[in-house]
Formats: sequence, C-alpha cells, structure tokens
Amino acid sequence: GGLPSKTRVNEVLAEAHARYAPHNDGVVADYIPILAEADPSMFGLSLVGVNGHTHQVGDAEIAFSIQSISKAFVFALVCEAIGHNAVHDRVGVNNTGLPFNSVMALELHDGSPMNPMVNAGAIATTAMMPATSGEERWQLIRNGLSRFAGRELMLDGEVYRSESLTNQRNHAIAKLLDSYDRLDANAEDTVDVYTRQCALAVTAQDLAVMGATLADGGVNPITGEQVVSAEVSRDTLAVLASCGMYERSGEWLFEIGLPAKSGVAGGIVAISPGKGALGTYSPPLDEAGNSVRGQRACAYLSRALGLNLFAST
Ligand code: GLN
Repeated sequence: GGLPSKTRVNEVLAEAHARYAPHNDGVVADYIPILAEADPSMFGLSLVGVNGHTHQVGDAEIAFSIQSISKAFVFALVCEAIGHNAVHDRVGVNNTGLPFNSVMALELHDGSPMNPMVNAGAIATTAMMPATSGEERWQLIRNGLSRFAGRELMLDGEVYRSESLTNQRNHAIAKLLDSYDRLDANAEDTVDVYTRQCALAVTAQDLAVMGATLADGGVNPITGEQVVSAEVSRDTLAVLASCGMYERSGEWLFEIGLPAKSGVAGGIVAISPGKGALGTYSPPLDEAGNSVRGQRACAYLSRALGLNLFAST
C-alpha cells in the first residue's frame, strides 16, 4: 500500500516533532568552523509522497548546507551520465565500517574507494562527472541536484569558504586517489567542486522532494521531470541502504529499514521506495556524524507510517 491518509500523516509528523524536540543529545559539528554557529534547537521534518503530497512540521523551510547528502545525488547523476558499470569499476558498494573521512579505508584497499557515500568514494565520483573543466562539472552537479529538488539550489558562500580553508584532509584523500591513478580529473579542482556540492543550501523540504524523486523511479513528483532512470534510482537506493549512514548503516537499517543519507550540517533524507521520502533537519550529531533528532524522528515515522522495507505487515 501507499502512505496513510493526509490527516494521519500530518498527525504522526506532529507527534514525532513534539516527542523529539525536547531531546538535547548530540553535538553540532565544528570541524568546519561555520557549522558550529548552527542553532542546536532547530528541528524540521518534511514528508513528500510520490503523489506529490507535502507535509511539514517545525523548521522544514530553514536553509542549511546539504554536505554529504549531496553524495547520493551526485552518484545518481554520474551513473546516469556514464552508466552504473563504469562507476562500479572505480568505486565499490561495500561499507567501510570506518568514519566518513577515513584515509585508512582507502589505504587498506590499494587506493580503491569502498563506496561513493564516504569522502574518498564521493571525491572519485565527482571527478567522474563528464566535463571539460571544474567549473562545468560544478554547474552540471548544481543543475542536476536542482532538478532533484525541483528548484534552483544555490551555493552557501560562507560554508564554502569556511570548509575550503579547513579541508586539508579531503585534499590529502584526493592526492592519495591521484597517486593510485584513481582520480579522473585534477585533484585540486575536484576537491573544490566537491566542497561546493557539499555547500549547496537546502531545506528539509528540499531533501524530501529529492528523496521522493528516487522513491518515484527518478521522476520528481512535484515537477514531473524524469531526473534519472528507474534503474539508477534503484542502484542509488541499494548503495544508500548499505552505506548511507556511514559505519552506523547496519544499525540504521536494522532499526528503521529504509535507505537513507545523512550530512554533518544535520540533514537526513530517508527514502521509502514507491511511497515517498522524509527530509529532516536538526544540527546536533552523534559520534558517526548523523543527526540525533533526525534519526529518532525517522525511526518513529518509519514505524508509525509502516515504511520499513523489511516489515511484511
Ligand atoms: N563536506 C563534508 C566533508 O567532506 C561532508 C561530510 C559529511 O557530511 N559527513 O567533510
């Protein structure tokens, strides 16, 4: 079946918001200095159905940087552009079991990134977007993510500048990939494009529309545009199920049962294939870098709305 009635969905979203808003666990990311200024009380939930129905509660229209959630949609766009096999030849689909910015995960596998949802694999994936310059690659990515969102997404210049001054580790990962001959574009340019894609400003509402597009076989349920193919959507959701929540992906799948992706600014998108997607925003994170309130709200909503992929009833 699909989602419960509109009234029921609104009720359940309001319950989830009221229940977790008082939870104050987790800490706001500060390794990117500007992110430390986020208001830890912000909490927004949005759900968009494949039928285009939209539900929101709390700070669902507040802008924040998409960060690692961009990895999911850039992976989909690159698979659409060059084919899933060409991407898979370069980047795997298994969980690293290690933090998202691990250099060790790369070294342990002869410089071959284990999956596109950690920094090494995402940087390699960004470099695979066919383009003749970094600037063109950035515009293709920004346009592609905008088509997923159904509106033009803009760079948060402050986040971009803050991360550009402090992303030595991502430069090191790109250089390491290059040293193994596993980077398809210039290392500095690629990190710059990757840093920009992570600094795109989105809302919980945007994340829900972007996720609902993957839930809907690549068709944006608001604009009606086919952004990627149904096969690419399926492949992207499979990678999100195994790798989207970093080293917590197994626990997440066990408890919530949905492909999902998190970002260090506090966003999460969780996708229910054929039904719709949840977008959540709350900056305080757990040790893996996943939003605490967002995870709890997704768990509550997955149960209350019958979204868990593995549940037979
Ligand atoms: N831009 C961030 C980084 O590369 C993204 C990390 C994240 O959201 N987990 O460190």
